[in-house]
Amino acid sequence: MQGNLFVVSSPSGAGKSSLISALLERHNDMKVSVSHTTRQPRPGEENEVHYHFTNVEAFKDLISKDGFYEWAEVFGNYYGTSKQAIQDQLDQGIDVFLDIDWQGAQQMREIRPDIITLFILPPSREELESRLNKRGQDSAEVIAKRMSQAQSEMSHYNEYDFLLINDDFEETLNNFEKIVLTHRLKTKNQYSKNSQLLTQLLAKS
Ligand code: 5GP
Repeated sequence: MQGNLFVVSSPSGAGKSSLISALLERHNDMKVSVSHTTRQPRPGEENEVHYHFTNVEAFKDLISKDGFYEWAEVFGNYYGTSKQAIQDQLDQGIDVFLDIDWQGAQQMREIRPDIITLFILPPSREELESRLNKRGQDSAEVIAKRMSQAQSEMSHYNEYDFLLINDDFEETLNNFEKIVLTHRLKTKNQYSKNSQLLTQLLAKS
């Protein structure tokens, strides 16, 4: 059985990473795709876990070898999604989440029309700014830059299949989980999972 491929986008600080992490804690057959990036690790970030941290030369080499589904330059750094890593997991029946921005989502729709896309919005601009400050990961200058980017990122919400407003975290998480689990019940997924049963039920007696 093949896993389903999901794209999750949001402005930084809307809760996307926390929601994905919390969902993965509930299900061991769901995984997040680990992107490649040329940006420096933040405190607490580990290579291979949060990102494959790499340099510009190695990143460009992988582009030339057609090793990425998509890549983008965000805030002056390169980010990309490796084809091989994702396909290996889907082949094992694992649902895979891509935590990528709207540019990446647009590229993914072209290459893999089967993807399911979700956009997460904060409940207000004030709350978004407050969450970025509380996170304590970025300088005031970077936060100001992210806030000015947020409006243009959020304007892409209507390109996505599902929209979640992350006001109450538990409620948003439960809705996120419902979307993912419901996709496992689509006929094409049920067909490959239950092919023996279906053959038996439909056999002429
Ligand atoms: P951050 O530096 O905060 O981890 O990520 C900055 C932005 O890059 C976020 O909007 C994130 O979604 C995006 N991003 C992370 N990985 C990828 C990727 O593989 N491809 C694309 N297109 N964007 C990514």
